[in-house]
Amino acid sequence: MDLSLGESTFFTKLLFRFFIITMIVILIFGLSVIYYFKTFYIQQKRTQINKNSTAVLEYLARSFAKDDKQEVVNWLNIIGKLNEGQVWLINEQGYLTFSYPYSFSEEKRFSRYEGIFEGNTISREVTTSDFENTMLLVGMPVKYDDKVIAALLVFTPIKEINATVNQIAKLMGLISIFSLFLILFITYFWSRSLSNPLRNIGNIAAEISKGKFGKKVEIEDKRISKEVNMLADSINIMSDKLEQTIRSLIEEKSKLQHVLAGMEEGIIAVNNEGKIILINQSASDLFNLETDVKGEHIKEVVDEPKIKAAFKTALNDEQGDWQEIVFKKENTKQYILFHCTPIKLENESFQGGVALFQDISQRYRFEKLQEEFVANVSHELKAPLSSIKGSVELLLDGVINDPKKQEQYLEMILEESNSLTHLIEETLILAEIDSGGLEVNKDRVNLKTLFENLVLFFNNIKKEKQKLELDVAGDIFISANKEKIRQVLINLLSNSVKFSPVEGTIKLEAEKFKKEVKIMVKDNGTGIPEEELENIWERFYKVDKARTPGKKSSSGLGLAIVKQIIEEHQGRVFVESISGEGSCFGFFISCA
Ligand code: ADP
Repeated sequence: MDLSLGESTFFTKLLFRFFIITMIVILIFGLSVIYYFKTFYIQQKRTQINKNSTAVLEYLARSFAKDDKQEVVNWLNIIGKLNEGQVWLINEQGYLTFSYPYSFSEEKRFSRYEGIFEGNTISREVTTSDFENTMLLVGMPVKYDDKVIAALLVFTPIKEINATVNQIAKLMGLISIFSLFLILFITYFWSRSLSNPLRNIGNIAAEISKGKFGKKVEIEDKRISKEVNMLADSINIMSDKLEQTIRSLIEEKSKLQHVLAGMEEGIIAVNNEGKIILINQSASDLFNLETDVKGEHIKEVVDEPKIKAAFKTALNDEQGDWQEIVFKKENTKQYILFHCTPIKLENESFQGGVALFQDISQRYRFEKLQEEFVANVSHELKAPLSSIKGSVELLLDGVINDPKKQEQYLEMILEESNSLTHLIEETLILAEIDSGGLEVNKDRVNLKTLFENLVLFFNNIKKEKQKLELDVAGDIFISANKEKIRQVLINLLSNSVKFSPVEGTIKLEAEKFKKEVKIMVKDNGTGIPEEELENIWERFYKVDKARTPGKKSSSGLGLAIVKQIIEEHQGRVFVESISGEGSCFGFFISCA
């Protein structure tokens, strides 16, 4: 039994109040019963005394009027015995004239019984020094010839009445104690049945307030109270609604967080004091922030004066701003375009600023590449054209008469023309790819056949004792545009031939994996320095910057075309090379 009396709960309050009410009811009831019984007994006794005395009152009056003292005493004797009490007779002057069974030696005068001389019968409880205990007095007028000649006072002890009443009081006490326990017992269970659902509701409400939404109040006995049932239902509905609302809020928040986290652009939002309220991972990475900077001032987190100034403008002047800034990171430069905009909610309850950081390095590089591309094409065209022009002019001027020399010049013109054609072809392929015009109509291409067909091409371009080894285990099929892949392999093979010694061995290999095939062109040529490897795929990039003569067909576009074609096939290129030892160029492409 958990009384929980330590704290003033609804249950203890209910129990305590029931207890007090029960006590008051029992007390009032008990006292009323005792009062009733006492009044009843006394009334009965009074009636009895009246009845007993009235019968002899006439004889007493006559004897008193005649002044027959003996007779008076006799009658008093009879009245005293009949009523089992003491009897006094007081004359008109208020003096005690006779008394039974005791007579008083001293003269006694009473004024307080005057009402009797007016013809009234009185009755009251008296406590005087003449009696040991409280007595019931009944005073009656003694009339003779319709005149009150004396007052008869009958004193009877009420000890027995009191004893009886005490007995009744004791009984009442016992009954009260028993009733009290019984009522308390009933009240305990009753209060519990009333307070338990409320306690239950209270506990659930506390859990909900701690964030455990969706908890339900279960009322075991639905008959207890309609109000409690209504309260429980309301709490349950509220809990459901809260759960739904919180869930959708969490979903919204997580969506926003995922969107922010997944964004490549950095985002920083500040409140009107300039303190950061939101920052996503990209922004943290951009500023190399390793700890959570929420709550910190933007000035303490970001060093860049342009950004600080833009936030200041957004917060103070409520004006947006955009800037391009350059972050220097180790050897590279990162170009960032950032927009800073003031935030103002409709009800003006919140003000702040938000900045978006966009990495435009790629675009920047691309634009630069485009510019370089045009410059490079012009440059690459200029050299062979000048050479052709010079040779033709010399031949036309007739300066060279030696037929052998003339032939040499004509051969040079042819070589330069070939170089020009090659450059223009490669530029056209790249232009086609850039304009999105490259159609990749994929077929099932047998690599073995493709490799074997390339042997003829190799033999045409190879240097003296160069060898080509094919390594393709059985029939491997890839899903690709045959002509484009052939172009890729031609470019790679040409490079290997170009950068390998005259007796070098070039290997063309294919290795099949689960879903893709790895194709490699390996040579034991000049190799490429490690620091050049990451640039090798860029347009017009040549490791040999001096563009040495003898490498005239070198445009620096071959690998860029390879990369573009493979990426159009959803594949990826790779290169491994050790300067002075050789290179391995290759790519991964899907199996058919
Ligand atoms: P190019 O048309 O000049 O060969 P590429 O784009 O094909 O242009 O190659 C770019 C540069 O990469 C070349 O100038 C060369 O320095 C280097 N390169 C390409 N392939 C090889 C290779 N197999 N061995 C050594 N260097 C190579």
